[in-house]
Amino acid sequence: TSKIRIGIAGYGNLGRGVQAAIAKNPDMELVGVYTRRDPQELQLASPAPRFAITELEQHTGDIDVLILCGGSKSDLPEQGPKYAALYNTVDSFDTHARVPEYFETVDAPAKAAGKTALISAGWDPGMFSINRVYGEALLPDGETYTFWGRGLSQGHSDAVRRVPGVAAGVQYTIPSQEAIDKVRAGLRPTLDTRDKHQRECFVVLEDGADAEAVREAIVTMEHYFDQYDTTVNFIDAETLAREHADMPHGGFVIRSGNTSDEQKQVIEYSLALGSNPEFTSSVLVAYARAVHRMNQAGVTGAQTVFDVAPGLLSPKSAAQLRAEML
Ligand code: NDP
Repeated sequence: TSKIRIGIAGYGNLGRGVQAAIAKNPDMELVGVYTRRDPQELQLASPAPRFAITELEQHTGDIDVLILCGGSKSDLPEQGPKYAALYNTVDSFDTHARVPEYFETVDAPAKAAGKTALISAGWDPGMFSINRVYGEALLPDGETYTFWGRGLSQGHSDAVRRVPGVAAGVQYTIPSQEAIDKVRAGLRPTLDTRDKHQRECFVVLEDGADAEAVREAIVTMEHYFDQYDTTVNFIDAETLAREHADMPHGGFVIRSGNTSDEQKQVIEYSLALGSNPEFTSSVLVAYARAVHRMNQAGVTGAQTVFDVAPGLLSPKSAAQLRAEML
């Protein structure tokens, strides 16, 4: 059988991660990296054919699944519908509140073209979403809790870097151990924002900046920090580069429920990710396999992780899975 031919649209953290993930999946091959920048200037992690993104209009016969690796804020709202009219696609659209609207904009062109477009794959949305659905379906009398971290938050790190006097910095989201312990014990606690997570910042000051003023500006920042207990650590640029260059993340989805007055049940799904983008990319690549199979089976239009049977993610056949995994 021939390999599944994958294209990458956009070469940032996810684009690099998808390239690395394809190398771990022998049933797939990378046939092209497409970018809005000058393709000859692109620094690829390993050799691959590179093209200007405009060439996607001409390559429809060469790619089985195009993995969209653009940002959720402005890239995917444009690229999702556009490329769903030309290719089977997978993306990681993660603006949770806009998912229903994004689904509709991708669904129409995908259906019209007979293509399959899997939106919002990754870990959250993605694997965490699936586990929230399992939890609620299996334990209808219960509560679902999602904790994030310990992990680097891109949005909060950007907010810290915009504070006057800050030269560079990162922000970590840390789940509260006390809250997790209560949830794991099946106590079904009511938790507010401050109870569930703390925030920790590592900041490099500009020359002459007032550390106390910077700390105060961060911890009181509306929406981002004012509802949390936040610690701010001041470090030098070398320490930041040495100790805070990775993008770890992860967390827990926990469903705690009661099946009778006497019996409580707790389900937990946990991720500890060395690299958020590399893990997300691995998920995207597994979903690309499923999308290829679903399109061959005649399923078209926009899909989410809820619509994909787990066996379709595996390179193993259904018979092999029955023999080895049940
Ligand atoms: P990046 O900012 O690294 O890349 C986004 C796009 O920006 C790329 O596709 C690329 O497009 C362009 N780009 C990248 N580097 C440069 C550069 N040096 N100069 C100019 N342009 C550049 O984003 P990520 O890959 O980290 O993340 C993409 C999205 O994935 C995020 O917006 C987030 O929403 C989503 N995500 C979802 C997760 C989930 O669990 N569902 C988890 C993690 C992320 P081009 O090559 O065309 O220029």
